[in-house]
Amino acid sequence: SEEIERLSYDVVVVGAGGAGLSAAIAARQAGKRVAIVCKSLFGKAHTVMAEGGAAAAMGNVNPNDNWEVHFRDTMRGGKFLNHWRMAEVHAKEAPDRIWELETYGALFDRTPEGKISQRNFGGHEYPRLAHVGDRTGLELIRTMQQKIVSLQQEDKRDHGSYESHIRVFAEATITRLLTDGNKIAGVFGYQRKTGEFFCLDAPAVVLAAGGIGKSFKVTSNSWEYTGDGHAMALLAGATLINMECIQFHPTGMVWPPSVRGILVTESVRGDGGVLKNSEGKRFMFNYVPEVFKKQYATTEEEGDRWYEDPDNNRRPPELLPRDEVARAINSEIKAGRGSPHGGIFLDIASRRTPEYIRKRLPSMYHQFKELADVDITAEPMEIGPTCHYVMGGVEVDPDSAAARGSIEGLFAAGEVSGGMHGSNRLGGNSLSDLLVFGRRAGVGAAEYATKIGERPKVAQSDVDEAVTEALAPFTRDSGENPFALQAELQQNMNDLVGLIRTADELEQAIKRLQELAARVHNAAATGGRAYNPSWHLALDLRNMLLVSECAAKAALMRQESRGGHTRDDFPKMDPVWRKVNLICKLDESGVQVVKQDIPEIPTRLLDLFEIDELHKYMTDEELTRHRDGGS
Ligand code: FAD
Repeated sequence: SEEIERLSYDVVVVGAGGAGLSAAIAARQAGKRVAIVCKSLFGKAHTVMAEGGAAAAMGNVNPNDNWEVHFRDTMRGGKFLNHWRMAEVHAKEAPDRIWELETYGALFDRTPEGKISQRNFGGHEYPRLAHVGDRTGLELIRTMQQKIVSLQQEDKRDHGSYESHIRVFAEATITRLLTDGNKIAGVFGYQRKTGEFFCLDAPAVVLAAGGIGKSFKVTSNSWEYTGDGHAMALLAGATLINMECIQFHPTGMVWPPSVRGILVTESVRGDGGVLKNSEGKRFMFNYVPEVFKKQYATTEEEGDRWYEDPDNNRRPPELLPRDEVARAINSEIKAGRGSPHGGIFLDIASRRTPEYIRKRLPSMYHQFKELADVDITAEPMEIGPTCHYVMGGVEVDPDSAAARGSIEGLFAAGEVSGGMHGSNRLGGNSLSDLLVFGRRAGVGAAEYATKIGERPKVAQSDVDEAVTEALAPFTRDSGENPFALQAELQQNMNDLVGLIRTADELEQAIKRLQELAARVHNAAATGGRAYNPSWHLALDLRNMLLVSECAAKAALMRQESRGGHTRDDFPKMDPVWRKVNLICKLDESGVQVVKQDIPEIPTRLLDLFEIDELHKYMTDEELTRHRDGGS
């Protein structure tokens, strides 16, 4: 039988994006021996691609900003489906985490007075995104890697080996979480380069595996984001929350076809870019929904003045939360007012000088020049919605990031976790989320590993089973081509579980996924085990299918439109549905979705809003209780 490398750690972190590295640093600082596993090269995660910045209410550019305003914006952006406690912790701790990064060596852009500069972004009342040009994620990862290296140097000095307390397993994919009864016991995976298997024993695992975007055809996500973390959590007995909430970013590239879906950062609009239809009209003024009317400009003049004088003017509607902008673009295209390649125009060329554009948006300038031969300082970009981020994810305890469900020892942070962003995430709130909850997950996992006492044991039979599962694609002589299956799955999700949904289409999607399931379980790999993309994809398909099923089934159940979930047949927000979280779990018959009451928001936080605003979200019964001084 197969020789398998087996090693033992206190905490295993799956994923080396911002959430994973934050967790690893925190667990190591708590004295634990930590393994970090990632699918690609160390340093290449989604987090690196983050352009706009990290939201933190430091009040450097506008002193009126504080955690309470940030909390309010986050809840509004998520249409009050957020877990209030996560939104509170996030708003309070984000500034500290940004400062901490600077102690690790990060250097954010500065205001003229030398404070960390902050930029405007959709849904944020004040300039709030700490940034490094439009390459913020790169600085974040670079700094955390640097911190890890410095910790490893301390370990070499104190324990004789760089890898005594933190070891990185790059280009390695985890396929299974291993359990002992209801407790986490370790992880199983393979080295992508060689195809060799390995097993890491550990009482605590932090999932930080990112999102699910690759289940959709048009996406800003890269090949890695096949929902592995979400799926492995489900398979281990954890629950997922609100998987119907998926963010379609309004501005992805649409042309040429080879780059369709690649992100065009929201900073283009934050820095003055506007959306125009084929008639040259700034159409967003026609799409400001009732709940946001108070905060957005009604004329172009007012919107334009806001960039210079935000205290006395309201922001332009191009900076509405992403779900609103994506739906508006979709409507314009549908009405026949789209651009030549089926998008809409994003114009910064006519509004800012070439020098300004090149300085503020260097990556965007190069991206369009190189990929589309478009000079964004001279002509408008063509853009359209692209699947970008999943708000749904592993249901966690808001303070420790421990996964809920029937499993102990599992923690989750970053995009793989759910609850924080409600039905729609504000731009910039992910990088801050990674730092805040990545750290908490690392601390939570370390505490758990300390108090657990006897370590759970990995059973040999579970390892054997994981090996058999992983090798199965090689045994299917008349199996299916995984690339063809992936393309079918992506098309299905794009067409039927996309930006705008209906019951009919969702039912159709679920049926097709069921048909695909049998075929996915027959996905075949040819060739050897070293660097074999068809084998890797055949294994990833299990995960893509599971998360797709969760998204489609939850989307069918939620009969309302809210944030990143738009039902054409239930176009309104429904206060009764606001009280409901949809929980996915796995049993013998597959993915089950059940309703669960949303935790009640305490009065001290509700008091941050005007009662008129709360009326737009909550039931009369909830508001009566609130006014009477309830919870
Ligand atoms: P990621 O950074 O996605 O990392 C996931 C890690 O898990 C990777 O290391 C991957 O290799 C690993 N992994 C996955 N599966 C496995 C497995 N089976 N085994 C082992 N390892 C695995 N957010 C903002 O706040 N501001 C922005 O400006 C911004 N811009 C963005 C721009 C783009 C183009 C994109 C795509 C996203 C942007 N976002 C932004 C969102 C944000 O970048 C992501 O949500 C965030 O980086 C996710 O971080 P994470 O740590 O959860 O996971």
